[in-house]
Amino acid sequence: MIRKLLLRLVDGFSRSSAPLVVARSRHGVSRHAISACARRVTAALQAEGFDAYVVGGAVRDILLGREPKDFDVATNATPERVRALFRRSRIIGRRFRLVHVLCGREVVEVSTFRGKHAGGDGERGATDEHGRILRDNVFGTREEDAVRRDFTVNALFYDPSTEEIIDHCGGLADLKARKLRMIGDPQARYREDPVRMLRAVRLAAKLDLEIEPRTRAPVPALANLLESVPPSRLFEEMLKLLLSGGSFQSVQQLRALGLHHGLLPMLDVILEQPLGQRFVMLALQRTDERVRDDKPSSPGFLFAALLWHEVLSAWRTGEAAGKSTMLAMFEAIDQVIEEQSENLAIPRRFSSDMREIWILQARLLNRSGRRPFALLGNPRFRAAYDFLLLRCESGELDMEIGQWWQRFQHAGEEERKSMLLPGTGRRRRRRKKPTSGLRHDSASGET
Ligand code: ATP
Ligand code: MG
Repeated sequence: MIRKLLLRLVDGFSRSSAPLVVARSRHGVSRHAISACARRVTAALQAEGFDAYVVGGAVRDILLGREPKDFDVATNATPERVRALFRRSRIIGRRFRLVHVLCGREVVEVSTFRGKHAGGDGERGATDEHGRILRDNVFGTREEDAVRRDFTVNALFYDPSTEEIIDHCGGLADLKARKLRMIGDPQARYREDPVRMLRAVRLAAKLDLEIEPRTRAPVPALANLLESVPPSRLFEEMLKLLLSGGSFQSVQQLRALGLHHGLLPMLDVILEQPLGQRFVMLALQRTDERVRDDKPSSPGFLFAALLWHEVLSAWRTGEAAGKSTMLAMFEAIDQVIEEQSENLAIPRRFSSDMREIWILQARLLNRSGRRPFALLGNPRFRAAYDFLLLRCESGELDMEIGQWWQRFQHAGEEERKSMLLPGTGRRRRRRKKPTSGLRHDSASGET
């Protein structure tokens, strides 16, 4: 009895009050805003007597007038029952099993209402010593499913058959007031899953919501909990954050809340230098513009930009110690990638792009001989050139070199040859013989 009372107190009004059921005439969302696949899934489940709703980000996005990325469905049917209902479906997930239902190319994720795990007897050990949830695999009611979600605006259920929205947590009012509010006690919810701190920053920036003060307050003090999150999950979340179209704002917010320490610790150092700050902010703004224009953005390019000034300073140190340009660059890259990997696990497919973009920064300095011709054919040339332009724009490099490459790319063969610089002093000191004039001629057939 006492425990029940306590649970009620802890969970606040959201647990004890009846949900708000809002008709279409008041919220305006027609079932046609829901994808045909998600409608088919909820209808089939309901025809079998189950409850089924569209839930989470999709409902939120539609209410905000945005097109949802994908549709999630929540139901009281078990994964096995869902699986049995749809021929093209499969059960996925280890910690909590979900069903993916396919219609053509579209995938709808169907999850069974999740219940409370802690508090229940025999469920001890479901959290680690910081309170982080390790297991989360108990079925529950719709209300419990709402309450275990992160933010109130993410906990709205939409029933396509009645066109009603069911709001257990006050999400509709928060959405109207454009507030991102954690469900329950924010501090406890961040302890359960520290990634929620990053989700708060990302969703606020992407959806232009204000992180409500109680939701925001505990974050700086809990930032170090991110250390207990597996680096691969952190990377995934960072990638979402950076490619959300609100990366510029998100990164500022991460810094303001002290969250970047466990992610990109070097960002502090980089952003303290005016040039580094300008470079990173420019790169983020460009990325946001591309995302908003629906153009592809390369994660490798983005991470290469975030860490560039770190590479640059190690590169310069190496050169100052007498190492050759290329050797200093290779060593700088290894050093930065290694330090970074302790925090964020950048997958190899991206880190190899980063390496190439950085290495090409050293190669682009060489504007004599046949090398510039060979560079034009490098599959990473375009990315490296864009990167070089960002360096010029941020004031790190003279505009002249960016303009040179711009012209060189578009010039005809003869003009290109006439553009080549005489072998530079530095180059000549390293191995190259003063016969490079002859090499220009022989390079003409290469491109
Ligand atoms: P996006 O626009 O990025 O897809 P989203 O809110 O849909 O945003 P998802 O990761 O697709 O994010 O999650 C779907 C839903 O699952 C969320 O809306 C939320 O209700 C719930 N959810 C996701 N991650 C968490 C979490 N860490 N803790 C609690 N609930 C979560
Ligand atoms: Mg989603």
